[in-house]
Amino acid sequence: MLVNMKEILQDARRRRYGVGMFNTFTVEMALGVMDAAEELRAPVIIGTAESLLSCCDMELFLSMGKLLAARASVPVGLHLDHGFTEPVIRRAIESGFTSVMYDRSEAAYEDNVKSLRELADFAHRHGVSVEAELGHVVFDDPADIGYVYTRPEDVEDFVSRTGVDALAISIGTAHGVYKTPPVLDLERLREVRKVTDVGLVLHGGSGLSDDDFRNVVRDGIQKINIYTDVSNAASQAAHDWVAQHNRSIEQVSPRMRKASCEAALRKLRLFSCEGKA
Ligand SMILES: [Zn+2]
Repeated sequence: MLVNMKEILQDARRRRYGVGMFNTFTVEMALGVMDAAEELRAPVIIGTAESLLSCCDMELFLSMGKLLAARASVPVGLHLDHGFTEPVIRRAIESGFTSVMYDRSEAAYEDNVKSLRELADFAHRHGVSVEAELGHVVFDDPADIGYVYTRPEDVEDFVSRTGVDALAISIGTAHGVYKTPPVLDLERLREVRKVTDVGLVLHGGSGLSDDDFRNVVRDGIQKINIYTDVSNAASQAAHDWVAQHNRSIEQVSPRMRKASCEAALRKLRLFSCEGKA
C-alpha cells in the first residue's frame, strides 16, 4: 500500500530500523526491488531522480509506481530524489509522489533555508513529505562544490525554520562508485540524532561495508538511498546473459529483475527492516 514517507520514517525511528530507498526507473529494477521488500516483509521506498527523468518520465514512473504500491502487501513510498529545479519538484508534488527531495545543498545556508521553507509549505498542503540536504554529499562531477560535513549545531535551526520531514546528512559518504573506502563519522551522526526528531537520510550508500550499514542504522539513520549497486547488478546481469547466451530481451528481462532483487536483498538484510511491514 502507498504510505507517506514521513509515516514510514517515523515508524523506522520508533522501532529502530532503516528503510531502503531505491531509484528504480526501469520495470526490471522496480519489480526486483519490490520482490525483495515482499520477501523480507519490509517497508520500502522506490523512486527516481530528476537527472533520471530522461530515461523514464515522471508520469510513466508514477503510473508504474502507484500500481506496484497498490499491489504490494508492504508499505511503499514513491520518492523524487535530488530535485534541483523547482517547477519539476512542484509538478512531482502535484502528480502523486509521496515525497520529494529538494537539493539546495550547494547553496548558501540561508538560501537553502528559504527555498526549503517555501517548498515544504507547498508540499505539505498536498500531503507530501519533503527531504532537504544539509552539508553536501559530493557527486562525481568536476563542477561540484566539494565535500561539506553536516554541522550538528545547524540542524535544529534548519529543521525548525523549514519544517522539512527528513534530512540528508553528510557524514563521509559520496555518490557513485568509491575510489577509496569511505570513513564514516558516526560521532557526528549521533550528535545530529540527539538534536532532531526528523528522519535522517544517508546518501551515497553504494559501496559501504556491511558494518557501515549496521552502524548507521544503529546510530540513527532511517532512510538509506541505494542506486549504484542495484543498477550495476541489473546491467551486469544483462551483459552476462547476452555474452553467454543470446540477445532475446524476454530472457534478459527476468535476469535483470532477479539481479535487482538480489542486490536489494543484500542491502535490506543489513537494515534490521525484516518483518517490520
Ligand atoms: Zn543522493
